[in-house]
Amino acid sequence: MTALLWLRRDLRRADHPALRAAVDEAGEGGVLPVFVLDPGLWDAAGDARREWLGATLAATAARFDDALVLRLGDPVEQIPALAQEVGADAVHVTAETTPFGRRRDAAVARRLAEAGIAWRETGTPYAVPPGSVRNGSGKPYRVFTPFRSAWWRHGWEEPHPSPRGVTWASADPHQEAVRRVEEAATAYAGRDRLPAGEEAARRRWRAFVADHLLDYDEGRDRPDLDVTSRMSPYLKLGVVHPRTLLHDVAPLVHEHDGARDLASELAWREFYADVVHHHPRSLWSDLTDGLRAMRYDEPVEDIEAWRQGRTGFPIVDAGMRQLLAEGWMHNRVRMITASFLTKDLHVWWPTGARHFLDHLIDGDVASNNHGWQWVAGTGTDAAPYFRVFNPITQGRRFDPSGAYVRRWVPELRHLDGPAAHAPWEADDGYAHGYPEPILDHAVERREALARYEATR
Ligand SMILES: Cc1cc2nc3c(=O)[nH]c(=O)nc-3n(C[C@H](O)[C@H](O)[C@H](O)COP(=O)(O)OP(=O)(O)OC[C@H]3O[C@@H](n4cnc5c(N)ncnc54)[C@H](O)[C@@H]3O)c2cc1C
Repeated sequence: MTALLWLRRDLRRADHPALRAAVDEAGEGGVLPVFVLDPGLWDAAGDARREWLGATLAATAARFDDALVLRLGDPVEQIPALAQEVGADAVHVTAETTPFGRRRDAAVARRLAEAGIAWRETGTPYAVPPGSVRNGSGKPYRVFTPFRSAWWRHGWEEPHPSPRGVTWASADPHQEAVRRVEEAATAYAGRDRLPAGEEAARRRWRAFVADHLLDYDEGRDRPDLDVTSRMSPYLKLGVVHPRTLLHDVAPLVHEHDGARDLASELAWREFYADVVHHHPRSLWSDLTDGLRAMRYDEPVEDIEAWRQGRTGFPIVDAGMRQLLAEGWMHNRVRMITASFLTKDLHVWWPTGARHFLDHLIDGDVASNNHGWQWVAGTGTDAAPYFRVFNPITQGRRFDPSGAYVRRWVPELRHLDGPAAHAPWEADDGYAHGYPEPILDHAVERREALARYEATR
Protein backbone atom coordinates (compact mmCIF):
# COMPACT_ATOMS: atom_id res chain seq x y z
CA MET A 1 0.00 0.00 0.00
CA THR A 2 0.92 3.67 -0.30
CA ALA A 3 0.88 6.05 2.65
CA LEU A 4 0.81 9.83 2.43
CA LEU A 5 2.95 11.70 4.97
CA TRP A 6 1.55 15.22 5.24
CA LEU A 7 4.32 17.39 6.68
CA ARG A 8 3.49 20.58 8.59
CA ARG A 9 5.43 21.47 11.76
CA ASP A 10 7.71 18.43 11.34
CA LEU A 11 10.08 19.22 8.48
CA ARG A 12 12.77 16.69 9.38
CA ARG A 13 13.74 13.04 8.95
CA ALA A 14 15.37 12.37 12.31
CA ASP A 15 13.36 11.52 15.42
CA HIS A 16 10.10 11.54 13.45
CA PRO A 17 7.51 9.05 14.81
CA ALA A 18 4.92 9.86 12.11
CA LEU A 19 7.45 9.09 9.36
CA ARG A 20 8.26 5.82 11.09
CA ALA A 21 4.54 4.94 11.31
CA ALA A 22 4.02 5.79 7.62
CA VAL A 23 6.99 3.65 6.58
CA ASP A 24 5.78 0.73 8.69
CA GLU A 25 2.29 0.88 7.24
CA ALA A 26 3.25 1.54 3.62
CA GLY A 27 5.65 -1.31 3.09
CA GLU A 28 6.44 -1.86 -0.61
CA GLY A 29 3.96 0.75 -1.87
CA GLY A 30 6.06 3.55 -0.46
CA VAL A 31 5.57 6.80 1.40
CA LEU A 32 4.67 10.02 -0.35
CA PRO A 33 5.78 13.08 1.66
CA VAL A 34 3.78 16.20 0.83
CA PHE A 35 3.70 19.83 1.95
CA VAL A 36 0.71 22.00 1.06
CA LEU A 37 1.32 25.71 0.59
CA ASP A 38 -1.86 27.37 1.78
CA PRO A 39 -2.03 30.60 -0.26
CA GLY A 40 -3.95 32.40 2.49
CA LEU A 41 -1.15 31.82 5.00
CA TRP A 42 1.65 32.25 2.47
CA ASP A 43 0.39 35.59 1.17
CA ALA A 44 -0.24 36.97 4.67
CA ALA A 45 3.28 36.21 5.92
CA GLY A 46 6.01 38.87 5.87
CA ASP A 47 9.06 38.36 3.61
CA ALA A 48 11.22 36.97 6.41
CA ARG A 49 8.72 34.23 7.27
CA ARG A 50 8.05 33.27 3.66
CA GLU A 51 11.76 33.10 2.88
CA TRP A 52 12.55 31.02 5.96
CA LEU A 53 9.80 28.55 5.08
CA GLY A 54 10.98 28.44 1.45
CA ALA A 55 14.59 27.80 2.45
CA THR A 56 13.51 25.15 4.97
CA LEU A 57 11.29 23.39 2.42
CA ALA A 58 14.14 23.34 -0.11
CA ALA A 59 16.43 21.75 2.50
CA THR A 60 13.68 19.31 3.52
CA ALA A 61 13.19 18.22 -0.10
CA ALA A 62 16.89 17.32 -0.28
CA ARG A 63 16.65 15.41 3.04
CA PHE A 64 13.70 13.44 1.65
CA ASP A 65 15.74 12.40 -1.43
CA ASP A 66 13.77 14.88 -3.57
CA ALA A 67 10.59 12.86 -3.02
CA LEU A 68 8.78 15.76 -1.28
CA VAL A 69 5.76 16.84 -3.33
CA LEU A 70 4.59 20.46 -3.11
CA ARG A 71 0.95 21.33 -3.59
CA LEU A 72 -0.76 24.70 -3.54
CA GLY A 73 -4.25 25.33 -2.18
CA ASP A 74 -6.53 24.63 0.75
CA PRO A 75 -5.31 21.43 2.46
CA VAL A 76 -8.93 20.37 3.03
CA GLU A 77 -9.16 19.99 -0.77
CA GLN A 78 -5.58 19.14 -1.59
CA ILE A 79 -4.82 16.27 0.78
CA PRO A 80 -7.86 14.08 -0.04
CA ALA A 81 -7.34 14.81 -3.77
CA LEU A 82 -3.69 13.77 -3.67
CA ALA A 83 -4.44 10.69 -1.55
CA GLN A 84 -6.98 9.55 -4.14
CA GLU A 85 -4.68 10.42 -7.04
CA VAL A 86 -1.92 8.11 -5.76
CA GLY A 87 -4.29 5.47 -4.33
CA ALA A 88 -3.12 6.00 -0.74
CA ASP A 89 -4.84 3.98 1.98
CA ALA A 90 -3.77 6.24 4.83
CA VAL A 91 -2.62 9.78 5.57
CA HIS A 92 -0.06 10.10 8.37
CA VAL A 93 0.61 13.29 10.30
CA THR A 94 2.22 14.59 13.46
CA ALA A 95 -0.79 15.67 15.52
CA GLU A 96 -1.52 19.40 15.51
CA THR A 97 -2.20 21.13 18.80
CA THR A 98 -3.34 24.65 17.95
CA PRO A 99 -7.08 25.32 17.67
CA PHE A 100 -6.67 26.34 14.00
CA GLY A 101 -4.65 23.21 13.20
CA ARG A 102 -7.07 20.89 15.04
CA ARG A 103 -10.07 22.34 13.19
CA ARG A 104 -8.38 22.07 9.80
CA ASP A 105 -7.24 18.50 10.50
CA ALA A 106 -10.71 17.45 11.60
CA ALA A 107 -12.07 18.76 8.27
CA VAL A 108 -9.40 16.87 6.29
CA ALA A 109 -9.96 13.66 8.28
CA ARG A 110 -13.73 13.88 7.61
CA ARG A 111 -13.16 14.20 3.85
CA LEU A 112 -10.73 11.28 3.91
CA ALA A 113 -13.16 9.10 5.85
CA GLU A 114 -15.80 9.73 3.17
CA ALA A 115 -13.31 8.35 0.63
CA GLY A 116 -12.41 5.38 2.86
CA ILE A 117 -8.90 6.65 3.58
CA ALA A 118 -7.52 6.36 7.12
CA TRP A 119 -6.22 9.33 9.14
CA ARG A 120 -3.34 8.54 11.49
CA GLU A 121 -1.77 10.88 14.04
CA THR A 122 1.55 9.94 15.66
CA GLY A 123 3.47 12.22 18.01
CA THR A 124 3.21 15.99 18.50
CA PRO A 125 5.68 18.88 18.18
CA TYR A 126 6.29 18.65 21.94
CA ALA A 127 8.29 16.39 24.25
CA VAL A 128 5.14 15.87 26.33
CA PRO A 129 1.86 16.10 24.39
CA PRO A 130 -0.17 19.14 25.50
CA GLY A 131 -2.93 18.08 27.89
CA SER A 132 -0.91 15.24 29.45
CA VAL A 133 0.42 16.99 32.55
CA ARG A 134 -2.14 17.35 35.37
CA ASN A 135 -1.99 18.15 39.05
CA GLY A 136 -3.00 15.76 41.86
CA SER A 137 -6.70 16.52 41.35
CA GLY A 138 -6.45 15.88 37.61
CA LYS A 139 -6.64 19.58 36.75
CA PRO A 140 -4.35 21.44 34.34
CA TYR A 141 -1.74 23.87 35.69
CA ARG A 142 -2.12 27.64 35.40
CA VAL A 143 1.26 28.47 36.95
CA PHE A 144 4.57 27.61 35.35
CA THR A 145 6.79 26.35 38.19
CA PRO A 146 4.55 23.49 39.38
CA PHE A 147 3.84 22.63 35.73
CA ARG A 148 7.56 22.38 35.06
CA SER A 149 8.09 20.01 38.03
CA ALA A 150 5.20 17.77 36.95
CA TRP A 151 6.36 17.92 33.30
CA TRP A 152 9.83 16.85 34.36
CA ARG A 153 8.41 13.96 36.41
CA HIS A 154 6.17 12.94 33.51
CA GLY A 155 9.23 12.58 31.26
CA TRP A 156 9.40 11.88 27.55
CA GLU A 157 10.50 9.22 25.12
CA GLU A 158 14.03 8.84 23.86
CA PRO A 159 14.61 10.21 20.33
CA HIS A 160 13.21 7.81 17.73
CA PRO A 161 15.70 6.24 15.31
CA SER A 162 15.25 7.28 11.65
CA PRO A 163 13.93 4.60 9.32
CA ARG A 164 16.52 3.51 6.76
CA GLY A 165 16.16 2.56 3.11
CA VAL A 166 12.72 4.16 2.75
CA THR A 167 10.75 3.48 -0.45
CA TRP A 168 9.24 6.73 -1.69
CA ALA A 169 6.14 7.01 -3.84
CA SER A 170 5.87 9.83 -6.38
CA ALA A 171 3.36 12.36 -7.71
CA ASP A 172 3.54 15.52 -9.79
CA PRO A 173 4.05 18.74 -7.87
CA HIS A 174 2.11 21.94 -8.48
CA GLN A 175 4.48 24.07 -10.53
CA GLU A 176 3.28 27.30 -8.92
CA ALA A 177 4.07 25.90 -5.46
CA VAL A 178 7.54 24.91 -6.66
CA ARG A 179 8.08 28.36 -8.15
CA ARG A 180 7.07 30.12 -4.94
CA VAL A 181 9.29 27.94 -2.78
CA GLU A 182 12.28 28.32 -5.12
CA GLU A 183 11.85 32.08 -5.25
CA ALA A 184 11.67 32.32 -1.46
CA ALA A 185 14.61 29.95 -0.95
CA THR A 186 16.74 31.90 -3.44
CA ALA A 187 15.95 35.19 -1.72
CA TYR A 188 16.87 33.64 1.63
CA ALA A 189 20.15 32.23 0.31
CA GLY A 190 21.19 35.74 -0.72
CA ARG A 191 21.09 36.95 2.88
CA ASP A 192 23.49 36.33 5.71
CA ARG A 193 21.06 34.55 8.02
CA LEU A 194 20.62 31.43 10.09
CA PRO A 195 21.24 28.49 7.73
CA ALA A 196 18.12 26.46 6.96
CA GLY A 197 17.62 22.71 7.23
CA GLU A 198 18.06 19.79 9.55
CA GLU A 199 21.82 19.46 9.27
CA ALA A 200 22.33 23.17 9.85
CA ALA A 201 20.09 22.97 12.92
CA ARG A 202 22.12 20.09 14.32
CA ARG A 203 25.38 21.96 13.67
CA ARG A 204 24.06 25.07 15.40
CA TRP A 205 22.83 23.01 18.33
CA ARG A 206 26.12 21.12 18.73
CA ALA A 207 28.08 24.40 18.65
CA PHE A 208 25.72 25.89 21.24
CA VAL A 209 26.10 22.87 23.54
CA ALA A 210 29.89 22.95 23.21
CA ASP A 211 30.35 26.71 23.63
CA HIS A 212 27.44 28.24 25.52
CA LEU A 213 25.13 25.74 27.22
CA LEU A 214 26.94 25.60 30.53
CA ASP A 215 27.05 29.43 30.79
CA TYR A 216 23.56 29.90 29.38
CA ASP A 217 22.30 31.11 32.76
CA GLU A 218 24.76 34.03 32.60
CA GLY A 219 24.52 35.06 28.95
CA ARG A 220 20.91 34.44 28.03
CA ASP A 221 19.68 37.95 28.80
CA ARG A 222 22.28 39.70 26.64
CA PRO A 223 21.09 40.65 23.15
CA ASP A 224 24.54 41.98 22.25
CA LEU A 225 26.01 38.46 22.54
CA ASP A 226 24.96 35.62 20.24
CA VAL A 227 24.88 33.03 23.02
CA THR A 228 21.36 31.63 23.02
CA SER A 229 20.62 28.47 21.06
CA ARG A 230 18.56 30.05 18.24
CA MET A 231 16.64 26.82 18.07
CA SER A 232 13.28 28.61 17.97
CA PRO A 233 13.07 29.01 14.15
CA TYR A 234 13.93 25.31 13.77
CA LEU A 235 11.50 24.25 16.49
CA LYS A 236 8.79 26.32 14.87
CA LEU A 237 8.90 24.22 11.69
CA GLY A 238 9.85 21.02 13.48
CA VAL A 239 13.26 20.86 11.80
CA VAL A 240 14.41 19.61 15.17
CA HIS A 241 12.23 18.03 17.88
CA PRO A 242 12.52 19.19 21.51
CA ARG A 243 13.00 15.54 22.55
CA THR A 244 16.29 15.54 20.65
CA LEU A 245 17.44 18.68 22.49
CA LEU A 246 16.31 17.45 25.90
CA HIS A 247 18.19 14.21 25.33
CA ASP A 248 21.43 16.25 25.38
CA VAL A 249 20.45 18.69 28.11
CA ALA A 250 18.60 16.56 30.68
CA PRO A 251 21.65 14.62 31.94
CA LEU A 252 23.38 17.93 32.78
CA VAL A 253 20.65 19.78 34.66
CA HIS A 254 21.62 18.74 38.17
CA GLU A 255 25.25 19.82 37.75
CA HIS A 256 24.99 22.91 35.58
CA ASP A 257 22.76 25.94 36.01
CA GLY A 258 23.04 26.70 32.29
CA ALA A 259 21.58 23.31 31.35
CA ARG A 260 18.90 23.68 34.01
CA ASP A 261 17.83 27.06 32.65
CA LEU A 262 17.79 25.87 29.04
CA ALA A 263 15.59 22.89 29.96
CA SER A 264 13.38 25.34 31.80
CA GLU A 265 13.00 27.53 28.69
CA LEU A 266 11.97 24.48 26.69
CA ALA A 267 9.45 23.80 29.45
CA TRP A 268 7.95 27.30 28.90
CA ARG A 269 7.30 26.33 25.28
CA GLU A 270 5.55 23.17 26.46
CA PHE A 271 3.65 25.03 29.16
CA TYR A 272 2.19 27.57 26.77
CA ALA A 273 1.09 24.80 24.40
CA ASP A 274 -0.57 23.11 27.38
CA VAL A 275 -2.34 26.34 28.38
CA VAL A 276 -3.64 26.77 24.83
CA HIS A 277 -4.81 23.16 24.80
CA HIS A 278 -6.99 23.84 27.84
CA HIS A 279 -7.87 27.49 27.05
CA PRO A 280 -7.94 27.89 23.26
CA ARG A 281 -9.72 31.23 23.53
CA SER A 282 -6.74 32.65 25.41
CA LEU A 283 -4.88 32.94 22.10
CA TRP A 284 -6.62 36.19 21.22
CA SER A 285 -8.23 37.35 24.47
CA ASP A 286 -7.03 37.82 28.06
CA LEU A 287 -6.47 34.55 29.89
CA THR A 288 -7.32 36.12 33.23
CA ASP A 289 -10.14 38.47 34.15
CA GLY A 290 -8.09 40.91 36.24
CA LEU A 291 -7.64 43.55 33.53
CA ARG A 292 -10.93 43.14 31.64
CA ALA A 293 -11.85 46.71 32.58
CA MET A 294 -8.52 48.18 31.41
CA ARG A 295 -8.79 51.21 29.13
CA TYR A 296 -6.58 50.85 26.05
CA ASP A 297 -5.81 53.30 23.24
CA GLU A 298 -6.64 52.59 19.62
CA PRO A 299 -3.43 51.87 17.73
CA VAL A 300 -2.94 55.02 15.64
CA GLU A 301 0.12 56.97 14.41
CA ASP A 302 2.56 56.03 17.13
CA ILE A 303 2.17 52.36 16.46
CA GLU A 304 3.76 52.86 13.06
CA ALA A 305 6.83 54.35 14.78
CA TRP A 306 6.91 51.23 16.97
CA ARG A 307 6.51 48.88 14.00
CA GLN A 308 9.23 50.59 11.98
CA GLY A 309 11.66 51.03 14.88
CA ARG A 310 11.47 54.84 14.98
CA THR A 311 10.26 55.49 18.54
CA GLY A 312 13.42 57.33 19.58
CA PHE A 313 14.14 54.70 22.27
CA PRO A 314 17.29 52.94 21.02
CA ILE A 315 16.77 49.43 22.43
CA VAL A 316 13.13 49.37 21.29
CA ASP A 317 14.07 50.53 17.80
CA ALA A 318 16.97 48.08 17.54
CA GLY A 319 14.64 45.20 18.39
CA MET A 320 11.87 46.25 16.05
CA ARG A 321 14.32 46.69 13.19
CA GLN A 322 15.90 43.31 13.88
CA LEU A 323 12.41 41.82 13.69
CA LEU A 324 11.76 43.38 10.26
CA ALA A 325 15.20 42.53 8.89
CA GLU A 326 15.83 39.06 10.32
CA GLY A 327 12.44 37.85 11.49
CA TRP A 328 13.91 37.18 14.91
CA MET A 329 14.43 39.11 18.12
CA HIS A 330 16.22 38.32 21.36
CA ASN A 331 13.92 37.30 24.23
CA ARG A 332 14.88 40.22 26.48
CA VAL A 333 14.18 42.67 23.66
CA ARG A 334 10.83 40.99 22.91
CA MET A 335 9.88 41.77 26.49
CA ILE A 336 11.08 45.38 26.27
CA THR A 337 9.34 46.09 22.95
CA ALA A 338 6.13 44.39 24.11
CA SER A 339 6.15 46.40 27.31
CA PHE A 340 6.62 49.58 25.28
CA LEU A 341 3.56 48.88 23.15
CA THR A 342 1.32 47.82 26.00
CA LYS A 343 2.43 50.20 28.76
CA ASP A 344 3.94 53.25 27.04
CA LEU A 345 1.59 53.30 24.05
CA HIS A 346 -1.31 51.70 26.03
CA VAL A 347 -2.28 49.38 23.17
CA TRP A 348 -3.97 46.06 23.93
CA TRP A 349 -1.49 43.18 23.42
CA PRO A 350 -3.18 41.30 20.47
CA THR A 351 -2.18 44.14 18.10
CA GLY A 352 1.46 43.58 18.97
CA ALA A 353 1.13 39.80 18.94
CA ARG A 354 -0.29 39.97 15.39
CA HIS A 355 2.63 42.12 14.19
CA PHE A 356 5.16 39.72 15.73
CA LEU A 357 3.47 36.69 14.16
CA ASP A 358 3.50 38.31 10.73
CA HIS A 359 7.27 38.74 10.89
CA LEU A 360 8.86 36.22 13.29
CA ILE A 361 10.43 33.20 11.60
CA ASP A 362 9.86 31.40 14.90
CA GLY A 363 6.33 32.84 15.17
CA ASP A 364 4.47 30.33 17.32
CA VAL A 365 0.99 31.35 18.33
CA ALA A 366 1.15 29.75 21.80
CA SER A 367 4.60 31.05 22.85
CA ASN A 368 4.07 34.39 21.17
CA ASN A 369 0.61 35.26 22.38
CA HIS A 370 1.25 34.02 25.89
CA GLY A 371 4.63 35.80 25.89
CA TRP A 372 2.65 38.95 25.09
CA GLN A 373 0.10 38.23 27.80
CA TRP A 374 2.87 37.66 30.31
CA VAL A 375 4.26 41.13 29.58
CA ALA A 376 0.81 42.72 29.44
CA GLY A 377 -0.11 41.25 32.82
CA THR A 378 -3.13 39.34 31.52
CA GLY A 379 -1.72 35.82 31.25
CA THR A 380 -0.22 32.99 33.27
CA ASP A 381 2.35 33.87 35.90
CA ALA A 382 1.72 37.43 34.86
CA ALA A 383 4.40 39.88 35.82
CA PRO A 384 2.51 42.31 38.05
CA TYR A 385 1.00 44.99 35.85
CA PHE A 386 2.74 47.76 37.76
CA ARG A 387 6.19 46.42 36.80
CA VAL A 388 6.75 48.60 33.75
CA PHE A 389 10.00 48.10 31.83
CA ASN A 390 12.07 51.26 31.54
CA PRO A 391 13.51 51.02 28.01
CA ILE A 392 16.52 53.16 28.84
CA THR A 393 17.70 51.34 31.96
CA GLN A 394 16.89 47.98 30.36
CA GLY A 395 19.02 48.92 27.36
CA ARG A 396 21.96 50.02 29.49
CA ARG A 397 21.74 46.95 31.68
CA PHE A 398 21.40 44.22 29.06
CA ASP A 399 23.33 45.83 26.18
CA PRO A 400 26.05 47.45 28.31
CA SER A 401 28.43 48.21 25.44
CA GLY A 402 25.66 49.50 23.14
CA ALA A 403 26.80 47.00 20.49
CA TYR A 404 23.28 45.62 19.89
CA VAL A 405 21.86 49.10 19.32
CA ARG A 406 24.67 50.11 16.96
CA ARG A 407 24.21 46.87 14.97
CA TRP A 408 20.57 47.64 14.17
CA VAL A 409 20.38 51.44 14.31
CA PRO A 410 22.95 52.93 11.90
CA GLU A 411 22.02 56.51 12.90
CA LEU A 412 23.55 55.80 16.34
CA ARG A 413 26.77 54.12 15.21
CA HIS A 414 28.80 57.25 15.85
CA LEU A 415 28.04 57.05 19.60
CA ASP A 416 30.57 54.96 21.51
CA GLY A 417 29.79 52.45 24.23
CA PRO A 418 26.64 52.95 26.31
CA ALA A 419 26.21 56.47 24.88
CA ALA A 420 24.24 54.77 22.09
CA HIS A 421 21.42 54.33 24.61
CA ALA A 422 21.05 58.07 25.22
CA PRO A 423 21.50 60.20 22.08
CA TRP A 424 19.88 63.13 23.93
CA GLU A 425 22.98 63.32 26.13
CA ALA A 426 25.44 63.79 23.23
CA ASP A 427 25.93 67.05 21.30
CA ASP A 428 25.87 65.15 18.02
CA GLY A 429 23.33 62.52 19.16
CA TYR A 430 20.85 63.41 16.41
CA ALA A 431 23.44 64.27 13.75
CA HIS A 432 22.53 61.27 11.58
CA GLY A 433 18.77 61.49 11.48
CA TYR A 434 17.78 59.40 14.51
CA PRO A 435 14.27 60.43 15.67
CA GLU A 436 13.66 62.11 19.02
CA PRO A 437 11.59 60.12 21.56
CA ILE A 438 7.92 59.98 20.60
CA LEU A 439 6.86 60.08 24.25
CA ASP A 440 8.04 60.71 27.79
CA HIS A 441 8.45 57.32 29.47
CA ALA A 442 7.96 58.72 33.01
CA VAL A 443 4.64 60.30 32.00
CA GLU A 444 3.37 57.17 30.22
CA ARG A 445 4.42 54.96 33.11
CA ARG A 446 2.30 57.08 35.46
CA GLU A 447 -0.56 56.93 32.96
CA ALA A 448 -0.30 53.12 32.75
CA LEU A 449 -0.39 52.84 36.54
CA ALA A 450 -3.35 55.22 36.79
CA ARG A 451 -5.30 53.11 34.29
CA TYR A 452 -4.35 50.01 36.25
CA GLU A 453 -5.58 51.57 39.52
CA ALA A 454 -8.84 52.47 37.82
CA THR A 455 -9.51 48.78 37.09
CA ARG A 456 -9.32 47.82 40.76
C1 LIG B 1 6.46 38.99 23.54
C2 LIG B 1 7.13 37.66 23.30
C3 LIG B 1 6.87 36.96 22.12
C4 LIG B 1 7.49 35.71 21.88
N1 LIG B 1 7.19 35.02 20.72
C5 LIG B 1 7.72 33.79 20.51
C6 LIG B 1 7.40 33.05 19.35
O1 LIG B 1 6.60 33.47 18.50
N2 LIG B 1 8.00 31.84 19.16
C7 LIG B 1 8.88 31.33 20.08
O2 LIG B 1 9.40 30.23 19.85
N3 LIG B 1 9.17 31.99 21.20
C8 LIG B 1 8.65 33.22 21.44
N4 LIG B 1 8.97 33.91 22.57
C9 LIG B 1 9.87 33.27 23.55
C10 LIG B 1 11.37 33.58 23.35
O3 LIG B 1 11.56 34.96 23.16
C11 LIG B 1 11.99 32.83 22.18
O4 LIG B 1 11.65 31.46 22.24
C12 LIG B 1 13.51 32.92 22.19
O5 LIG B 1 13.92 34.26 22.14
C13 LIG B 1 14.08 32.15 21.03
O6 LIG B 1 15.46 32.28 20.95
P1 LIG B 1 16.40 31.02 21.20
O7 LIG B 1 15.95 29.87 20.39
O8 LIG B 1 17.81 31.47 21.01
O9 LIG B 1 16.08 30.74 22.71
P2 LIG B 1 16.89 30.02 23.87
O10 LIG B 1 17.12 31.04 24.91
O11 LIG B 1 18.08 29.32 23.35
O12 LIG B 1 15.84 28.97 24.46
C14 LIG B 1 15.71 27.64 23.92
C15 LIG B 1 14.29 27.40 23.48
O13 LIG B 1 13.42 27.48 24.60
C16 LIG B 1 12.15 28.01 24.17
N5 LIG B 1 11.91 29.27 24.88
C17 LIG B 1 12.82 30.14 25.36
N6 LIG B 1 12.21 31.16 26.02
C18 LIG B 1 10.89 30.94 25.91
C19 LIG B 1 9.72 31.62 26.37
N7 LIG B 1 9.81 32.75 27.09
N8 LIG B 1 8.52 31.11 26.06
C20 LIG B 1 8.40 29.97 25.34
N9 LIG B 1 9.46 29.26 24.90
C21 LIG B 1 10.68 29.73 25.18
C22 LIG B 1 12.27 28.26 22.69
O14 LIG B 1 11.74 27.14 22.01
C23 LIG B 1 13.77 28.39 22.48
O15 LIG B 1 14.16 28.07 21.16
C24 LIG B 1 8.37 35.15 22.84
C25 LIG B 1 8.64 35.87 24.01
C26 LIG B 1 8.02 37.11 24.24
C27 LIG B 1 8.32 37.84 25.51
